[in-house]
Amino acid sequence: MDTCPCGSSENYKTCCQPLHQGTDVAPTALKLMQSRYCAYVVKAYDYLKLTTDPQTTFEFDHNANQEWGDRVQFQKLEILSSEEIKNKATVEFKAHFLDNHQLVVHHEVSRFRRLEGIWYFRDGKVKN
Ligand SMILES: [Zn+2]
Repeated sequence: MDTCPCGSSENYKTCCQPLHQGTDVAPTALKLMQSRYCAYVVKAYDYLKLTTDPQTTFEFDHNANQEWGDRVQFQKLEILSSEEIKNKATVEFKAHFLDNHQLVVHHEVSRFRRLEGIWYFRDGKVKN
């Protein structure tokens, strides 16, 4: 794999792979967001669960995520804005993917929370 699917100009090996393998943690909520998108692309579904806030992780449906992630073809991730204030952060993004040969643009504002120095995805609001 050449450049990382998250949209950085780095190699996957030095970008999101250490996060997916658990040898490093995302230093910012934005990086966590990018690495979570990337996890869908490389099908590292466990990473999605691991990086979901322990308080909301019961809502996490591994099979549904996997079923969806295996079905669609990811095109790109577009970050619109990100804001980090103390231990809370929001990232607004558009994820472009093909679902059944149709281009879908998923526009979402995700919320993140930092617990004991580690960023977690909390929830997301879909925008139209
Ligand atoms: Zn990456």
